[in-house]
Amino acid sequence: MSLVTMTPTADDQSPVRSYDSNWIGGEWRAAALPNTPVESPHSGDIVAFVPDTSVDEIDLAIAAARRAFDEGPWPRLAPIERAEVLSQVADSIIQSASEFAHLLAVEAGIPVSGSASISGAVRRLTYYAELAKTYQFEEVRPSSGGDILVVREPHGVVAAIVPWNAPLGITLMKLAPALLAGCTVILKCSPEAPLACFALGEIFRDCGLPSGVLNIVAGHAAAGDQLVRHGDVDKVSFTGSTVTGRIVGEICGQRLVPCTLELGGKSAAIVLDDADPSRIVEPLVAAAMSNNGQACVLQSRILLPRGRHNEFTDALIDSVKKLRVGDPREPATQVGPLISEAHRDRVESHIRTAATAGARVALGGGRPMNMHTGWYLEPTLLVNVDNRMAIAQEEVFGPVVTLISYDDDDDAVAIANDSAFGLSGTVWTNDDARGLEVARRVVTGSTGVNRFGMDIGVPFGGVKASGIGREQGPEGLDSYTRTKAIHLAGPQ
Ligand code: NAD
Repeated sequence: MSLVTMTPTADDQSPVRSYDSNWIGGEWRAAALPNTPVESPHSGDIVAFVPDTSVDEIDLAIAAARRAFDEGPWPRLAPIERAEVLSQVADSIIQSASEFAHLLAVEAGIPVSGSASISGAVRRLTYYAELAKTYQFEEVRPSSGGDILVVREPHGVVAAIVPWNAPLGITLMKLAPALLAGCTVILKCSPEAPLACFALGEIFRDCGLPSGVLNIVAGHAAAGDQLVRHGDVDKVSFTGSTVTGRIVGEICGQRLVPCTLELGGKSAAIVLDDADPSRIVEPLVAAAMSNNGQACVLQSRILLPRGRHNEFTDALIDSVKKLRVGDPREPATQVGPLISEAHRDRVESHIRTAATAGARVALGGGRPMNMHTGWYLEPTLLVNVDNRMAIAQEEVFGPVVTLISYDDDDDAVAIANDSAFGLSGTVWTNDDARGLEVARRVVTGSTGVNRFGMDIGVPFGGVKASGIGREQGPEGLDSYTRTKAIHLAGPQ
């Protein structure tokens, strides 16, 4: 049985559920290890507990997923029947949207004002449910010796490992295509923000998902490591830091199992010299600072034409100054706290190192005076930044943006590409055609001209140290299937 303690948050009486069990084989299985506290980034208080997960419990979860794949009905259902479950889960989450928004605010500090994140997360389910109607799970290809049936079979047992920064969205980005393909899954959530993930087990069960198809565990690195190494896991889908991604990729390489790695970023927004500050600054600031600066795709380097550097800097300062920092549960809040004290320390140390290297804090850089608890940091703009400095090369993962001058379009593209990462990017201009030409030259997994965003219908992923493989779109579904060619007997 799950432990259903109703723990009030520090200064909000809304209940947050604690767990002392993992969701394995369609039921709560009591965990052996001591519980892990989940802290509120707003107050620093413990708001709930989840189990730590032992290696033995990981093995149990894998065994449940293996059985459900090898013997259960799920992989054998028609895709359209699996899609029906995804649609029902989408409806269920929408009905609980405000509870999910609250959970994400409490555990990860994500402002409830970004409630689009719930509908965006749910759209992943509805998109794949719809795609089931047109995706070619099977096709016949003619050949000189007779027809060949090309079948896309589910890949098998999937380990889905997720970070803390957007727990619901990233989880559904993996679960929706994996389940539609007919795979079974062990979801390992981040111990920092596991609550929204843990809430999914019963929802999927109530919507008709058979036992063992989805298993949910928390746990630290050892739990993730066991998942990645286990011989009964057929595919790994990992989102997290580049450091961990390299370890995961190495193990998968040894095991020769496919892995999708969605890793860090240090994306560049190129502001061309014809851009109009009054049009671009607001969306650009959102592209750089949303989710408290804790999103892999954010535009953490803004490249400004040297001749208009001061003008754009002033406009950016004006706009960032207006961002409302506060309790993520307040509807007016735009920027919430960082995930933990340790993480805020890391971000502050990045700022100090940058200052030592010659960067100047043009705005922010400290802790907001109006917030007396939690892990808040002022939205920060740094100028006098050279792209070779650590602050321009390393992922900071906080509301800290570097402003870098460039000479001409070629220089801007060279600076944008002078990065170990290649996840996202944007170009801001009054001339869309020119913007498109510049966007084509940036080495990255996705980019935008006068807009920043992600769309579930198109492939998402990185190049270079930002990862391997693609999620979203039909490509995201491809990655949970494997093809088999069946050569049919020709005319006798
Ligand atoms: P992290 O790498 O520390 O952890 C990610 C997950 O991996 C967690 O569940 C963690 O418990 C688990 N893990 C840790 N060590 C492991 C190991 N040895 N084997 C298997 N699993 C292990 O990352 P984080 O700090 O939780 O998340 C922030 C990072 O995630 C940032 O670098 C950010 O850029 C990245 N991220 C990337 C994307 C993307 O789509 N590219 C999206 C969101 C976040």
